[in-house]
Amino acid sequence: MEITDILRTIIHPELQKNIVELGMIGSVKQEGDTLFLTLRMPKKHDPAASPLRRAIERAVEDKMGLKTSIVVSDPAPISKQQKVQKELRENTTTSNIQRVIAVSSGKGGVGKSTVTANLAVSLQKMGYKVGVLDVDIYGPSMPKMFGVESYVPVPSDNEGKMIQPAENHGVKVMSIGFFIKGDDALAWRGPMATSALRQLVHQTAWGELDFLLLDLPPGTGDIHLTIVGELKIDAALIVTTPQMVALADVVRGISLFKSEHVNIPVVGIVENMAYFKPSDSDKTYYIFGKDKTQEIAKESGVEVLEQIPLDEFIAAGGDQGLPYVTDNQQSDIAKAYMNIANKIVNFK
Ligand code: ADP
Repeated sequence: MEITDILRTIIHPELQKNIVELGMIGSVKQEGDTLFLTLRMPKKHDPAASPLRRAIERAVEDKMGLKTSIVVSDPAPISKQQKVQKELRENTTTSNIQRVIAVSSGKGGVGKSTVTANLAVSLQKMGYKVGVLDVDIYGPSMPKMFGVESYVPVPSDNEGKMIQPAENHGVKVMSIGFFIKGDDALAWRGPMATSALRQLVHQTAWGELDFLLLDLPPGTGDIHLTIVGELKIDAALIVTTPQMVALADVVRGISLFKSEHVNIPVVGIVENMAYFKPSDSDKTYYIFGKDKTQEIAKESGVEVLEQIPLDEFIAAGGDQGLPYVTDNQQSDIAKAYMNIANKIVNFK
């Protein structure tokens, strides 16, 4: 039996295709009684690497009586990688999602979730099918912002493999907050959080979606790398306030997305709580500073898409489970949210 025929009998557990067909075999060389080969994984940190390695060792030993020395390497060069990524998408529940947009921030409390909720409703009002996946394990706020806090996730099929998302204001919502309550979230670090997030990503029954907005935790930690490894993210949006402490982390966030191994294009920055304009005066107060976001954006080579003011109705909407744009469509603020949504739609 030829070596490729032997390798063809080994199936990637997630992609359900054989490793030869997936282009995962790099160099193969026999020296003495050892077969040296390179196994290129379709994605970084692929959990299938160890079982596949063992399966190859067993098959080569059984069929050829040889020992194996396997080097597991990073994803294949770009053209093959794209092909494999495509297959990965086709084989996960995200295959019927047209575009995945990650919403990220350097610091917590800058309004990332508020922006995500309002963009989701804006896109929905533009006629798109929208889902929000809230993986902010440090403070999942989508259940509250969409008024679906009491939702208890139910299986969407008899086998119990897929979970039905909540739905309100025409937007489907899945949140880590449905599974953990209160401060428990803080205890969810490392492998426990990673496996829970994987389940949310792959086992939510979204149906057909035009846009899935991902509410990421603040910062640039492990969760980001897990999500980036699990899901093909088409673009990232950064939310910040004009404060210096928040902006320093923005630079780090943008570099992470732009880095070679992550390589996710950034649509731009949303400057939230950019200013305050009292309703009974023409004055504008730049409470957290002015111009700094613009400077940082320029430095990082991205655009500031919009400035959203500090506004009592935005905050109230978040607390009432009624994102601001649901009811205030004609205001300048709603137009700003719509404008960001438009930029996302047109971002190539
Ligand atoms: P993050 O997701 O970055 O932690 P949130 O979206 O939860 O931040 O917002 C933090 C708090 O600030 C919430 O109480 C929210 O209602 C409020 N908030 C966010 N954006 C605005 C705004 N533009 N004007 C007023 N309050 C806001």
